[in-house]
Amino acid sequence: MDVVTLGTGSPIPDANRAGAATLVRAAGTTLLFDCGRGVVMRLAGAGVLPPMIDRQFLTHLHSDHITDFNDVVTTRWVMSPVENPLPVTGPPGTAAFVDRTLAMLADDVRYRLDHHADLTWGPSCSTTEAADGVAWEHDGVRVLAAPTDHRPVAPTVGYRVEAEGKVVAIAGDTVPCEGLDRICEGADVYVQTVCRPDLVRTVPSPRFQDILDYHSSCEDAGKVAARGGVKTLVLTHPVPPPAPGTEDEWVAQAAAHFDGEIVLAHDLWSITL
Ligand SMILES: [Zn+2]
Ligand SMILES: [Zn+2]
Repeated sequence: MDVVTLGTGSPIPDANRAGAATLVRAAGTTLLFDCGRGVVMRLAGAGVLPPMIDRQFLTHLHSDHITDFNDVVTTRWVMSPVENPLPVTGPPGTAAFVDRTLAMLADDVRYRLDHHADLTWGPSCSTTEAADGVAWEHDGVRVLAAPTDHRPVAPTVGYRVEAEGKVVAIAGDTVPCEGLDRICEGADVYVQTVCRPDLVRTVPSPRFQDILDYHSSCEDAGKVAARGGVKTLVLTHPVPPPAPGTEDEWVAQAAAHFDGEIVLAHDLWSITL
């Protein structure tokens, strides 16, 4: 089982951090969690092309986590020699989002169908919605969903991937909550999007300050990891983007509350379990 932080950025543009996306490969299964800015490029960097994805999971429908969903759909479609619907699982509202995305692609779909004689089908997805409980189970891989707290953004979910006797928790954007504790319980790896309140508070922008009330800080992530007995805490989606040389500060804030391994992820960072 391996975990690759494909994109570790946030909405703030960063030349070195693509948008939120994490890859989990387990028991021959390739699972993609979120699909932010540049995800198809980072998938290529991990040796994965969109037709190879067994399921796309979404934690929530904030733009920085889904903005390149259309690229995953289109590239899977044009690269597949036979019809190959993309399986998608996300919180309630995902099916409508998927339908709107497919509608948005109508012009491109028409161009390609008109041009390629061997292409006689459009892109498609098979979508399921998950709120709490088993979200997907297949060939020794089980994915559980639990509600998280990113209000006023709702509904949002975190995922717990269980395979090969290992557990990976993919939290998405959330503050600590009961659902988050459940997916993290005993996890080998816990991937958490984080912000630094001490830095955010120095920026005199009300809109920027707003992010503090619905994101985990590094300290929050450390506390959740400690409570769950997690082995490795992976900090991702850092807001604001860390200045070069300050990575240790992010880790230290989490380490004040958690004794396990802590990593501030960069794009294409990976761990094998
Ligand atoms: Zn969000
Ligand atoms: Zn986000």
